[in-house]
Amino acid sequence: MADANPVKSMDSIMSLCKRRGFIYQASEIYGGINGFWDYGPLGAQLKKNLREAWWQDMIMNPCWGRKGPNGERVRCVPVETRIIQHPKVWEASGHVGGFNDPMVDCKACKARFRADHMWVAGFADLGKAEGVNERFPEFPLALYEEAKASGNPAKIMEAVKEMRTVHRLDAMLKEDFQKPRFFKTAVGGSLNEAAEQLNLSKREAKAFITPVVAWAGSLADFRSIVGEGAPCPNCGEANSLTEPRQFNLMFKTIVGALGTEDDKAYLRPETAQGIFVQFKNVVDTTRVKVPFGIGNTGTSFRNEVTPRNFTFRSREFDQAELEFFCHPSESQEWYKFWRDFRMEWWQSIGLKSENLILREHAKDELSHYSVGTSDVEYRFPFTAPGYGELEGIAHRGDYDLKQHQEHSRQKLEYFDTTRGEILPNGGKKGEKYLPHCIEPAAGLDRGVLALLCEAYTRDESRPSPEFLKLHPRIAPVKAAVFPLVDKDGMPEVAEKLYDELAAKYGKVGFIETDAKQSIGKRYARMDEAGCPFCFTVDGQTLTDQTVTVRDRDAGGQERIGIANVSAYLAEKLGV
Ligand code: ATP
Repeated sequence: MADANPVKSMDSIMSLCKRRGFIYQASEIYGGINGFWDYGPLGAQLKKNLREAWWQDMIMNPCWGRKGPNGERVRCVPVETRIIQHPKVWEASGHVGGFNDPMVDCKACKARFRADHMWVAGFADLGKAEGVNERFPEFPLALYEEAKASGNPAKIMEAVKEMRTVHRLDAMLKEDFQKPRFFKTAVGGSLNEAAEQLNLSKREAKAFITPVVAWAGSLADFRSIVGEGAPCPNCGEANSLTEPRQFNLMFKTIVGALGTEDDKAYLRPETAQGIFVQFKNVVDTTRVKVPFGIGNTGTSFRNEVTPRNFTFRSREFDQAELEFFCHPSESQEWYKFWRDFRMEWWQSIGLKSENLILREHAKDELSHYSVGTSDVEYRFPFTAPGYGELEGIAHRGDYDLKQHQEHSRQKLEYFDTTRGEILPNGGKKGEKYLPHCIEPAAGLDRGVLALLCEAYTRDESRPSPEFLKLHPRIAPVKAAVFPLVDKDGMPEVAEKLYDELAAKYGKVGFIETDAKQSIGKRYARMDEAGCPFCFTVDGQTLTDQTVTVRDRDAGGQERIGIANVSAYLAEKLGV
């Protein structure tokens, strides 16, 4: 039986993206620049639609008009803050001091890994290898020994997998984990990736995989964690890993003409800090009352050490972030509310629930300030069967406002007139506090990538075997109007319908028209662009004023009155 959810080929998706003008390599005619991607006509509109859906559902009509845990409508306002902020903003936020990734290089193959993405698979000493078959007769000792002797991580992982799936490794781990390590190997990837690669549950993975997370010491310390002579995860060369070194991910620039160190500034690594910095202005100049949110969208920059996986990890990308400010006593409820809504939202624009998970971070994964964090994760083809982060929803407490209050020496407290004891005149005394903050932080480029991966469909039985099942709300081309043939009065009728639709719906996406080529080829082009509806004017139109409407996903057609096309489209697009 065919796999109901086969892993899609990233090469095919990337080639469709290029061929149809969704995503191009930046500066391609000069050979490209690593970690930067441009959007072509369809990609630019797709990304705009995603941003606008976010803007609409988070700011203009937050949570589709749903009531929050306080029983009232959710209220949010936007800001648009600059890429370059005062350098002290980044000192206060902790980015200048702490936004570092320790990296490990391989001296042999020059590959570079994030130290906290290295992990070490260690086997318990199974009561001396010789004895193991007595207790576990089916244990593939030869395979294990051979892999171990090869020092080749890929081979070792194969052996680990084999042992896990066939030979009750779970039981062995439980009994023997405390014993000395049998062997150690360092492998690139996150702990979750490790667990997924080895087909282990997270709990099992934790038992025998050690992430090199909190590395802060010398090469000797590093070696004591990864093991003497640990091979490079990429080329397998033993003893070739350098000690981890710090790399700051912030892009530096110079403001003004003098160009001295004092004029140094940074390109923002996230849009969120702009919100905290303007929190007081928004409170003082508008009628917002806690609880409320401030949204900000725009470009962020991170000098990622290893940009990879198409646009997933880029050096320049767009974010859509909301900071929702609330009273500390209500923050847990708001955290759960936003976490659940954000998961629902991604599903509403077309990401299927079987490819999406909400992963609550374990306590030891949380940043020092975070009270709770969940990630909405999508099963990208390059992470499958595992998942990659699409959006993080963090309960940040009052960390950011407190930091900015301290560094700027400006009071950022909020005076809440709805709280405090009741006064003799019946009013409330009020309460001053630093609001707590819930932050749903989404990446628009990762969002576009997830939508494209989800939409990409192959069906060899169709004349256009590759097509994009994009949700109508997000699709860059909303509809196409075709005359069946380029004669007999059909082009004139089609053009009139096109004019009407373009005037009405051009604001949400492209309306296409094309009279050349066979109708099959024109449909195929629209399928590849993810256009959900094609209206075709044919011979019958001229007699009974109906057109065909073709459904992209089912390929079927029905006839509707030409006068009803606009209303039909409005309903389907939800505009
Ligand atoms: P990661 O662990 O993948 O580096 P992060 O946890 O550092 O991500 P956040 O700081 O929470 O990411 O940023 C919020 C969102 O911004 C992420 O969920 C992601 O969608 C997006 N994002 C972060 N870094 C990148 C990047 N280098 N390229 C594209 N999108 C990114």
